Amino acid sequence: MGVISVSVRKSTNAPSLEFEAVFPSSSGSDWQLQLPCWRPGRYELGNFAQYITKMVGINDDGSEVKLEKLNHHRWQIPENIRTMRWTFYANILNGGSTYVRDDLQYVNPVNCLVYEVGAEDVGYEICLCDVPSEWKLATALPYSVVDGNFVMKARDMQHLMDCPWMAAPELWNAEYKVVDEEKEVDFYVWSYGCKPPNAQKFVEDHIAFSKSQIAYFRTFPTPFYHFLYLLPPEIEVRHGVEHEDSTVIVLGPENIINSDYGYDELISIGSHELYHAWNVKRIRPSEWTPYDFTKACPSQLGYIAEGVTTYMGDLFLFEAGCIDLENWCSKMEVLLTRHLNNQGRLNMSVADSSYDTWLDGYRPGVPGRKCSIYVEGAVLAFLCDCRIMKVSGHKQSLSTAMTILWDRFGKSRKGLTAEEYWGVLEEVAGESLNDLRTKYAYGIADSWNDLVEAMDFKGLKLEKSSDEKGFVTPKISEL
Ligand SMILES: [Zn+2]
Repeated sequence: MGVISVSVRKSTNAPSLEFEAVFPSSSGSDWQLQLPCWRPGRYELGNFAQYITKMVGINDDGSEVKLEKLNHHRWQIPENIRTMRWTFYANILNGGSTYVRDDLQYVNPVNCLVYEVGAEDVGYEICLCDVPSEWKLATALPYSVVDGNFVMKARDMQHLMDCPWMAAPELWNAEYKVVDEEKEVDFYVWSYGCKPPNAQKFVEDHIAFSKSQIAYFRTFPTPFYHFLYLLPPEIEVRHGVEHEDSTVIVLGPENIINSDYGYDELISIGSHELYHAWNVKRIRPSEWTPYDFTKACPSQLGYIAEGVTTYMGDLFLFEAGCIDLENWCSKMEVLLTRHLNNQGRLNMSVADSSYDTWLDGYRPGVPGRKCSIYVEGAVLAFLCDCRIMKVSGHKQSLSTAMTILWDRFGKSRKGLTAEEYWGVLEEVAGESLNDLRTKYAYGIADSWNDLVEAMDFKGLKLEKSSDEKGFVTPKISEL
């Protein structure tokens, strides 16, 4: 079995990338070319084909062949055509996009690379044809320099689609190691644009939350991991996206990056995305195992994927000593402000809202219709964590359950169901959690009284007040 050989270069007159791919010889019949229609981390259709400005096949004599589409994201290719050429408009900068400038090539392959339907196991060799080898390249893909060009390799389609890269004349970088129960893990921190604020503390905090998370899970899923920070001085953006062996975190502009708020945002997103290396990249809802990029893949389990991660990301910052109790409380106040002021949580459960992220999950949507998997999922994770600690006399926690889920499901990449998730939580608690599950995961009950009780268990007092317009403000203080 050969590999798909891809060359990438910047267009001469637009913020676009030109791709050419040669596919290994075919079985002798017409075939289908697929562009992903969504990307992991954002559970809605991305419809990336809207950024493809040209897609043609290439004959042996070099002439172009017009292609027919089978649907918005799939092309029918004649049997004799094995070379494809396409142009991708690369002018959006966020954690999951593709963006090209004179001094930056930032690519999320899931936006702009294609595969042969039915041949998803074929590997890739990707040559960055016009990126000087003196540039820095940050990616989890293995690469070498061949004839003055960076050449990256991917095992198969799933590997490629999960490995973004960024190349630039200059990238700030730092490295550290953390030892888990089996091996030494190499961490790489890269930054394009601004240097990370308070760089020494920034790296120390990364070391602290990495160690803290690994101590709970006992093993890290991979021998290496890359944090790719894009810190554009002049663009207003805040976003992070998780991958199996890396993450992309984007924040700007400069005055935000260099504020206390910006620093706090960066390490919060960093801790959140690292937790995803276990939860969602490996401990993954069965509907997303493996990723099917050809269609929408709704799951009710977004409250585990994003809710548990949102709660745990901040909890580990606190446990690692990166933030103090006051800071953790103010993060919970922000979360509870969003919770209390969204009437949608009393209309649609977080499980159903998760299923519907594919409709409007990342927009405010119709007032009062739905809730956020991040907010309601994190509130539910907090309630589960406190309940498990309370009934087990502090011997067990939600972290204990997540470690078991990593051992039983994540390591073997067995897709997770709701039954299995709640089964492990109840096993750790030693009693039924059916009230939490039915009221707050699949129901629309108001959780205020349980929240007050859970905070009290933590030694904290939770109160709320409303202004004349009905806006509710929570307040957490030490008992
Ligand atoms: Zn997330």
